[in-house]
Parts: sequence; structure tokens; C-alpha cells
Amino acid sequence: MPGTNLTRDEAAARAALLEVTSYEVELDLTTGDTTFGSTTTIAFTCSEPGAETFADLVGATVHEITLNGTAVDPATAYADSRIRLTGLAAENTLVVRADCTYSRTGEGLHRFVDPADDRVYLYSQFEVPDARRVFTTFEQPDLKSVFTFVVTAPEHWKVVSNSPSPEPTPAGDGSAVWRFEPTKPLSTYVTAIVAGEYHQEQHAYEGRHGTIPLGLYCRQSLVEHLDTEELLTVTRQGFEFFEDAFGYPYPFGKYDQLFVPEYNMGAMENAGCVTLRDEYLPRSRQDRAFYEFRVEVILHEMAHMWFGDLVTMKWWDDLWLNESFAEWACYHAAVEATEFTESWTGFTNARKNWAYRQDQLPSTHPIAADNVDLHAVEVNFDGITYAKGASVLKQLVAWVRLENFLEGLTGYFHDFEYANSEFADLLTALEKSSGRELDSWAQEWLQTTGVNTLAPRFELDAEGRYASFVVEQGAHPDHPTLRRHRIGVGLYDRVEGRLVRRQSLELDVEGATTEVPELVGVTQPDLLLLNEGDLAYAKIRLDPRSLETVVEGIATIDDSLARALCWGAAWDMTRDAEMTAHQFVALVLSGLGSETDAFGVSRLPAYAAQAVHQYSAPERRAALRTTWEQGVRALLHDAAPGSDHQLSFARAFAAAAHSDAALDELEALLDGSLVLDGLAVDADLRWTLVGSLARNGRADAARIADELSRDNTISGQEHAASALALRPLAEAKAQAWQDAVVRDDVPNETQRSIVTSFQVPGQDDVLEPYVERYLEVADTLWEEKGTQRASTVLEYMFPKQLASEALLARVDAWLESSPANPAAKRYVREGRDDVARALRAQARDARG
Ligand SMILES: [Zn+2]
Repeated sequence: MPGTNLTRDEAAARAALLEVTSYEVELDLTTGDTTFGSTTTIAFTCSEPGAETFADLVGATVHEITLNGTAVDPATAYADSRIRLTGLAAENTLVVRADCTYSRTGEGLHRFVDPADDRVYLYSQFEVPDARRVFTTFEQPDLKSVFTFVVTAPEHWKVVSNSPSPEPTPAGDGSAVWRFEPTKPLSTYVTAIVAGEYHQEQHAYEGRHGTIPLGLYCRQSLVEHLDTEELLTVTRQGFEFFEDAFGYPYPFGKYDQLFVPEYNMGAMENAGCVTLRDEYLPRSRQDRAFYEFRVEVILHEMAHMWFGDLVTMKWWDDLWLNESFAEWACYHAAVEATEFTESWTGFTNARKNWAYRQDQLPSTHPIAADNVDLHAVEVNFDGITYAKGASVLKQLVAWVRLENFLEGLTGYFHDFEYANSEFADLLTALEKSSGRELDSWAQEWLQTTGVNTLAPRFELDAEGRYASFVVEQGAHPDHPTLRRHRIGVGLYDRVEGRLVRRQSLELDVEGATTEVPELVGVTQPDLLLLNEGDLAYAKIRLDPRSLETVVEGIATIDDSLARALCWGAAWDMTRDAEMTAHQFVALVLSGLGSETDAFGVSRLPAYAAQAVHQYSAPERRAALRTTWEQGVRALLHDAAPGSDHQLSFARAFAAAAHSDAALDELEALLDGSLVLDGLAVDADLRWTLVGSLARNGRADAARIADELSRDNTISGQEHAASALALRPLAEAKAQAWQDAVVRDDVPNETQRSIVTSFQVPGQDDVLEPYVERYLEVADTLWEEKGTQRASTVLEYMFPKQLASEALLARVDAWLESSPANPAAKRYVREGRDDVARALRAQARDARG
């Protein structure tokens, strides 16, 4: 049984048989709160008359199927999420009339009622294969077609899709019909429908190739938070930059950005109709990292309009290319066209760590993954596909030079416009523009797995000069590929209280050892930094003297990117049990207060907290928790009033607080008896404080309900659900389990809030029973709950707080015997690996 799966082979066979001439999709959104009417008419040709194929439709009640004028019985033709189509003619018309179900998981057509005002909001989310939850499709990216959407909805609603919104025609009873113009040729997964009582603003970008209408949409209850000018500024900067850099005018006419509720990811590149999670319209104070990331998301989706929507991968094997490209392009554009000119530092501090972590999990895979079916694709929206791919693409750009890269792209966009391509097509275009052979590069970086480690090895002479110097390259024994790397090397000395770069050089690293004759005879610096400039994708090691220098003086390095590399090296060494958790926490406490990179300031406290709770030796942990709590408290009190540091440290202090004195201080911030100059205790920060009190047994259900009565918004409800799950009580965990794992009617974002608040360090007693329960449900969760719910539970409810050898053994036994599908097992295997890593780090920390 295929279930909702689809294999690459099935898709290829269908693509060989069919061309899809057009879709007409009629949706009736006036038929109730749980289902909507969906009538699809598909015109398509078949190259082998008489053959059979199938169309896709998930979870529908099918009333009528007609193929070429002949009725087909749904009872026999519609099964297992497919409609069987037999006896095809050269030219065919398929009509399917059905009722489909509104989603509460963010997959398909999601329906949301705003608790703030009871207004209704719908939006679609179709990637990877979920257009088939809304209309009848041939659900694969290489069967592009033109789509005509016809939507019946309440007349006071806004209805938005890929084509410009038409004037609606009244249809009686307070409803109206929107008949959209046919789209350009699109893949099903980038089509979209957004409808409801949205607030709308219309603006425009006047560009070199003409005017692009720009729409902004959000819920009525968020209008006051829609910061139009900032959003328009980056949108216009993006269009000006990309239209020029890509040498191809924006292809989809208008550009709407719609901020939607309960959204599973950051945003989605529907052609001309981009949806973004509406947490990006913050109601409370946020730091610069938040706004920088939002800019990157906006630019990422915009880049997809060309790379992804205009030219689309044939099959999901090239998902990496789609995402890596958008990722590279958004950072490149942020640096070149916006105020965030140091975005590559943020990339190092935030995204590359994600890639390195993912690449060391047992589930790692080549960047160019072998996505044999949809199940394989759905778990690959990961750190390899996005961040490692983007790191490697950045190298490719350096390898072929930017101007050749862009010239190749322009040709590629013209050659494959409104069509599909494969990675080889892009490589051919780049070889043509650059004159360089790229096959071996692609083989080395895209077809292989794992991250290399680069370490300095040297001898010193009597005067403290390098007598020899090599860069050693290592690899995990399971993934032994050694690669070619272009790296920078920086030599820093302490000069008048600062760490000052004395010298830097660039060199090619190849094989297990690379001699560096330029350094022989050079006096050993206080800090020797490999991969300066962050050209390479590799973990780097610090020699003992350099590590000591960094721990004592990271704050005295002026270059933010050099600091980011030091932070990253120290974090990798901690995770790899080559540096103790204690050392890492000391490093963060010494350098965090003066760190200037927004992502460094916002992410490092989380890494340090992880070092405290997971990587420290259990017998030394209590003291380290106190050190961390008091250290963050001091940072908070020393932070400049109103600064991002102050906000970030307030959050970190709330997360670290566990002593009575610290918790008293959180209470005082909440009730206003303690005021920190410049720190606004706004709605979201209040919830952060309440959550901390709940986690420590100082906020009961009544207290949480009281907070919710002050903030009865969807955000408030999600925060309250989180706070309830954080409590160190058996009944709290039981309720959380029931709501997040057993029930089906808890909406996606609320479920995620509960799931991510379940496993709490230090709550071993109440969490112990959930080891067996987790493994028991993991057997069948994927099939029973679907991709979205199941993956959230499997990833975040893994009992990693209870790290022990016994847990590893129990999980190994489960992995041996469980009937769970590979996607579910992947999450369990990753959780197991986290535990094994934590135990190694704890042993290192125990040695001091
Ligand atoms: Zn993307």
C-alpha cells in the first residue's frame, strides 16, 4: 500500500506518460467549519493511449469522478489517497467533485479562528505533497501546469492566490466568487490559496523592468504590529538586487507577503503569494537577531521566485539545491543590499553550527540526497539541506568567481524558464560561464557525507618559533572522505590588552597533512586561528595555547567573524569531549557581555545552558548551574539599559534561574517591585518569567490561567500550554502527554509548545515513566498522526534528559525490534546519538 507515499520511480513513470495542459480548481469555502467543497477539472494528454495512471487526493469525500465524460465509481476508483484512471485517451479531461477537510496541523488548507476576535483565517501550505489535500492533483514538481482558481467565500473576506486577486462577483447569501486569471506554469507545491478576514495593504516597487504591486496581509488583531516601512524597505531592496543579479525580471507579476497564524516553518515561496509565520510581526520587544533573521527569510523566499518557482527541480533529489541556493542568495543579498552587512558572521554563529551538528548525526546524508520517495524527502528539511548546502555553495561561488556564477545563472533561468531542471543542468551552465571543470568538485562535496576536522600540529624551536607546521585533516571513520579546502590562517598576539592580528595567509589543504612552510621560523602567536574568513566547511581545533588565549580573551578580538570561529571551535570541542563543559561556560561568561554579533548574543546562552545541563559531569553539575545562574545574573545587571544584550540576558537569566533568590527576583520583575532600567517586561517577557516559575514549581495552574486572562491571544494560549507542561508534576506531564501525543484536535503550534516544554532538565522523577511510553508510541506514531505531529513528538520528546548507558541499551533494543518506518527511526537514532555524545562529554568534564 502506498498510503500517502509516492516513489521517485512512480513519479518518473507518470511524467513520461502525461503532460498536464491545465487545472481549474473550484473551492467553496462557505460549506462549514470543518470541510470545504473542491471540484477539480484537469486537462491532460497521454503519450500512450489506453494506458492507466492515477491522480492524487488525500482524505477527501469524493462525490463524483468523470473521465472524458464517463462517470467513474469513486467507491472502486478512489482508494489509498489515489484515484485510479484507466483507459486514457490521447487528450483527457478529468473532473473530480469532492469535499476536503480543513487542516489543524498546517498541512493542506489550515483553518484558524482568532481567539482575540473570533475572525476566521485560512491559508494553504502544500510543500512537500499537500496540494492533494485541497484539490485533485498530479502531485510531483515536474508536472507543471497553469492553474485557474475559482473561490467562493464570504463576500467580506480577502481571497489571495498566485494570480492577482480579481474583483469578486456577488453570489447571494453574503457570499461571492473570485475567479482568478490562469497562473503561469507552476508546480503544484507552489500554488496557494489564502482567504479570510485579513487586513490588506497595497504598495508597489517601481523597478527597472516595471512596477511590481506589493501586498502585505496579516490578521486584524496584529495590524498594530505590521511594521510596513521596514518590510517594504527590504522587499524593495531585494527586488532591486535580485532582478539585477539574476539578469531576469521578476516573473510572477505581483508579490504578496501574507503573515499567517500557526505556521509550521518560517515561510513558503508560493509563486507571488509568499506566506510567513506571523510571529515575524512581533508584539513584544525583539533583538537585532530577530530582525536580521526576518530579513533573511524575506530574501530567501524572494530568491525562490527565480530558483524554485520559475525553474523547478524535477524531483526532490534536488531539494538541497533549491534550499541551499535560496539560503546562499539571501545572505549574499543581505550583505550586498541591506543594512545587515555582516550577515555572514551570523551565518557562522547560527547556521553553520546547525550544519555541523546535523552532519555528525548517524542520519547524515550527502548534500545531494537520494530521495527515493516522499517519506525520505519529508525528513530532509534539515541542517544539511539548508546550511551545509549553502556553505558549500558559497565555496562554489568562490571557486568559479561570483561574476561567472551569476552569468551562468542568467543563462540557466532563460534556458529553463517555467520548466524543470536537474543539478547537472546548473553545473553545465556554470562550467560554460567559468571555464572550470566542476564534476570532481561536485563529487567531492555533494555526493559524500560528513564533516572534516582541521587541526594545527607543530613543533617549536628554543626561541618559541615554529620549527615545523602542518594542518592535519581528519574525518569520522564512518565517513572517511578527505577533501580539498581553501582556508585562511590568522596569527594573533596580545597587544595592550587586545588580541591583534599579526599576520594572515591563505592556503589549500589537501589530504591528511598539509605542510605550511610559510609558518616555519615564525614566532608562535598567542592565538592561531584556522579557517579565518570562514571560507571552508570544516570543524577547526585550537591548540592548547590558543584555547587558553581564547578562554581568557575572546572579548578582546575585534573582528566579529574571527570571534564567531573561536566560539564555534570551542563549542565543537566541547561537544566532542575535547574541552570541558566548565571551560565552555567560563568562556561564554567571559565573552558574551561584549559580543557584538546579534546571533552570537542570542544563541550562545543556549549553548552554554546545554553545556550545563547535558555536558557537565552530574556530580559537578549543581555547582556549575549556580555559576551559570549567577554569571548570567551579573551580565543582566551590567547590561546597558534598553540594549539587546539586556533583553537577551533577561531571557537567559529566566532560563537559568533555579535558586530561591533568583526566582524571587523573577517574581519581583513580574510584579514590578524590581525594575531594571530600560527593560520592558512586556507580554512575551512576562511569559518567559512565568514559564521559569512554572518549571521550578512556583507557578501553579491557577497562576498560569491568571496570566492567560491578561493575554487571551493565540500567543498567550501557546505560552500557557507551554508553562503548564513545564511544571515538575506527574499530573502536568500526564496532561501534556495526553494533549500532545494522544489527542488529534490540538492545533500544530500549540502542540509544538507543549512538546518542546516536556523534557526538562532536573525533572527525572516525573519523566522516567515516559521512556517506555515514548518508545511504545514511536512504533506507529508516523502512520497514526502524520508527518507534522509525529516528527515534532519524536524529535523533542526523546528522553535525552535521562542520559545513561541503560537508556542507550534500551533504545538500541528498540531500534533492533521496532516495526517503525525509517523516518520515525531516524528521529530516535538521532536522539540516541545526542545521549551518547552527552555521556562522552560528561566523562570529559568529570576529569576536569
Ligand atoms: Zn526555501
